[in-house]
Amino acid sequence: GPHHRVSLLSRQEVAAQLYGLSGRRAERPDATVTEVFERIAGQNPDMVAIRHRDRLWTYGELNTRANDLAHALIDAGLRPEATVAVAAQRGFGWAAAVLGVLKAGGVYLPVGTNLPDGRITACLEAGECRFVLADEQSETWTRRIAADRTVLPIGDGTPVGAATDPLVPVRPGQAAYVYFTSGSTGEPKGAVCEHAGLLNHLYAKIEDMGLAEDGPRAVVAQSASLGFDISLWQLAAPLLVGGSTRIVDTEVLQDVDAFVTEIVAGRITAAQIVPSYLEVLLARLEQEPRALGALRALSVTGEPLRRELVRRWFALYPDITLINAYGATEVSDDTMHETLTRTPETDFVPVGRPLPNVHVYVLDEHLALVPLGSPGEIIFSGVCVGRGYVNDAERTRQAFVPDPFRPGARMYRTGDFGRWLPDGRLEFLGRRDEQVRLRGFRVELGEIENRLRAVPGVRDAAVVIDRVAGEHPRLVAFHTGGSEATVPENEALRAELSAEVPAYMVPAFFHRLERLPLTGNGKVDKRLLTRLAGTL
Ligand code: ADP
Repeated sequence: GPHHRVSLLSRQEVAAQLYGLSGRRAERPDATVTEVFERIAGQNPDMVAIRHRDRLWTYGELNTRANDLAHALIDAGLRPEATVAVAAQRGFGWAAAVLGVLKAGGVYLPVGTNLPDGRITACLEAGECRFVLADEQSETWTRRIAADRTVLPIGDGTPVGAATDPLVPVRPGQAAYVYFTSGSTGEPKGAVCEHAGLLNHLYAKIEDMGLAEDGPRAVVAQSASLGFDISLWQLAAPLLVGGSTRIVDTEVLQDVDAFVTEIVAGRITAAQIVPSYLEVLLARLEQEPRALGALRALSVTGEPLRRELVRRWFALYPDITLINAYGATEVSDDTMHETLTRTPETDFVPVGRPLPNVHVYVLDEHLALVPLGSPGEIIFSGVCVGRGYVNDAERTRQAFVPDPFRPGARMYRTGDFGRWLPDGRLEFLGRRDEQVRLRGFRVELGEIENRLRAVPGVRDAAVVIDRVAGEHPRLVAFHTGGSEATVPENEALRAELSAEVPAYMVPAFFHRLERLPLTGNGKVDKRLLTRLAGTL
């Protein structure tokens, strides 16, 4: 067991790994996001809370609409910790809905309005979700979502009146939200996180991205789509310091020049993007350098940040901090920050140090500490650790295990590999399994394979990623079936998948093989298939 193995390391080393590397110390948050927001809104009702295009809502207006929605949910029979789906576009209504759900003691579940109906229903069923808050198209939603659910309209006209907080008592250990991510078994899995983990993460973002210092001048770009937990901190963190969030439309993000203009004109002070977007941004700004106004911190997350990008960033913006943020949806979003003010000397960019109240371990396959500096699985413990996967005891048991070093606590196995650097920073070394990133989305290749195997006529399937330099990586599916005649056409396969999974999970190419190639130990030879995909 783990204790036996720990004894192979010196006491000092064990102590260093368990305590010395645990980062900053801070009080565990003993409040909820909406309590803090309510206090600030009460003190400063006329300050700007949220901007979108040329409109704004004050703290008072946002709070009023959130209170309206909280009351509507409670009147409709919402019980504490019941899931509430929010089917909305990014905007004022969405922001009020998030706060309203939390004020009512519910669990926020974002529903991407562009997802296939089958996917939405699967998430709502898994989350045993009976309530939906929907933006202006609420009739469409009533049609799209089975009729036994209560669909309440959100409304994004300027709030009037002065509805007060329903004052539902919410414990820090209560569930706050659930995000569905791709699951390798073929069904999406919903990771549930708690209020304490949420607030702890928000406080870390507030401190590390300069929001505390900027106070009412803090403006965070709300750029992430609602299926990402990133969107939650981009909304909520500035609202805890009297700052504001600025919704940046997808069309603006797609046009780098327009995004830069919005950063400058909107006096955005903090933003978070994925490395592939940083690459696009840099390419444009190197062509035509522009000052970035009030921007003081840019965080990059979701994928390894290459040193080259950091070097190029500081060549243009030596005074704007870059933060490599690392974490996972299951642990309340980011759990480690590497704050960069210049290009690192190492040939990689570390993922930094733990956030306050987060413990990070590097463990072997028996969940014992590896010697300091050796590679192992990255595992998180502390306030960040979420509840697990909604209605999925089996997958929860596999990923959320008892913490052998902190009795009574649970820890989360990321499936990522890493190693400690001598200075207490962590190096990210890659993944154990087949989780990949496509345009920023987290995708399990196994999920697509299982979906394909479920199509009548398909016997077996393997999906690989084809990376062509300078282009978006694309998915290539290989499948086997009975005879040529009974195997579905590529278009039919595409249609089947499109009805089940988001567009970014539908392979670009389908290719039929007599049989899938195997490696010496009988596994599908993905390396060979990847090479084959490159020739198609
Ligand atoms: P989040 O929603 O917190 O951004 P996801 O749950 O979508 O994270 O994805 C988590 C996985 O993404 C991690 O387990 C890791 O494999 C990868 N990842 C996230 N951030 C980084 C990073 N800064 N560097 C390398 N990989 C990262």
